[in-house]
Amino acid sequence: VARESFGAVERLRGAPPGSVSADLAELARIGSSPGAGIERTAWSPELFAAYDWVARRMAEQGLAVQIDGAGNLIGSWNVGRGAAIVVGSHLDTVPHGGALDGALGVVAGIHAVRLLRERGVVPSRPLRIIAFMDEEGTRFDTALFGSRAFAGDDLSSLGDRLDGSGISLREAMANAGYDHRAVGSARGVAAVHAYLELHIEQGPVLSADGIAVGAVTSIVGMRRFQVELVGCANHAGTTPMELRRDALAGAARISLALRDFVRGRSCVTTNVGKLSIEPGGANVVPGRAEFTIDVRAADAAGIVELEDFVWETVRSVARDERLESRVELTFSLDPVQFDPSLIEAIERAAAAEGASCRRIESGAGHDAMVLGQHVPTGMIFVPSDGGVSHSPDEYTPPANLELGTRVLATCLQDVLSRER
Ligand SMILES: [Zn+2]
Repeated sequence: VARESFGAVERLRGAPPGSVSADLAELARIGSSPGAGIERTAWSPELFAAYDWVARRMAEQGLAVQIDGAGNLIGSWNVGRGAAIVVGSHLDTVPHGGALDGALGVVAGIHAVRLLRERGVVPSRPLRIIAFMDEEGTRFDTALFGSRAFAGDDLSSLGDRLDGSGISLREAMANAGYDHRAVGSARGVAAVHAYLELHIEQGPVLSADGIAVGAVTSIVGMRRFQVELVGCANHAGTTPMELRRDALAGAARISLALRDFVRGRSCVTTNVGKLSIEPGGANVVPGRAEFTIDVRAADAAGIVELEDFVWETVRSVARDERLESRVELTFSLDPVQFDPSLIEAIERAAAAEGASCRRIESGAGHDAMVLGQHVPTGMIFVPSDGGVSHSPDEYTPPANLELGTRVLATCLQDVLSRER
């Protein structure tokens, strides 16, 4: 999927040295290849090179830097007393990713510390900037790994998950110097007072309407499934149509049934994004199909209804096509509503910085949806040009990146001042 240009990063590179945008352009060099965007997958050398770069930036702002047992990079401003305020996001990317998804939230967190110091703010509580490991989950289907470990979820069953080249998560962690059995040591949520995350919208709403800041109200719930259908591979010319057990036909029917189910409903989506069939010959009936299903819904009832529909549809289509079926639920997170007082704090901060602001729901998953199950959580969106994301072309004008960072800093200042 080579791209002819990587213009988005070039446009960031023109920003003044030392700005959030210029830092993001520099960070974007790590893991990037000409024409193909950025690739820093979980536990890869590229991701740890990005950690090194970010750790230096954290140290320059006087933060104490450590990496926990789940591979989360943590920069701490150890001041004040009590539970910490955490600002987080992630440095891993999807394959052929862009410069802003995740990276913005981490870099902006460090710049927010700089702004607070410049404003003479001494926080009443510790402030931590965290880059969570493996938010995207594209390598091992272990999305939100670092934030889930930080929240205390038991991830011990994930060690055997394999990447595309047959390396297990356990091995990938060992190769990077980490012990999968020690992931539980990353649990840290009990010492968190509140969580804030700045992220690009990854959708078109703010950009289309010329709004500078989104105060996120909620994130959709998700379920992800791995499905295997087994029929019978046979000669495509001699096997009569009514006698075939075509695994691809089953997969196609399931994909379309899901699409038809959610069409006409609001705030629900389904996607079959990965599909492989075997044996894979133009003149052979597909005997085996393996595919993923991703479903999302804004409310708890909706996600339960969707999950039930997936199980039932796979069962009924498989029966109808005379296929064997195996379904595994590989990922599950319920919808989360963000903290009303933090939503208001974000709106106040936007007003104080002269930024237009609107409340918005997120259809994309973020580390904030994990933290939001445990502690008061707020999320700030800045516009994605044209709604493009998970692409080398994802872009937000530098002025919006700087403004979003100032809103984050002002919001932190607001939250810290209100509890004095
Ligand atoms: Zn992200």
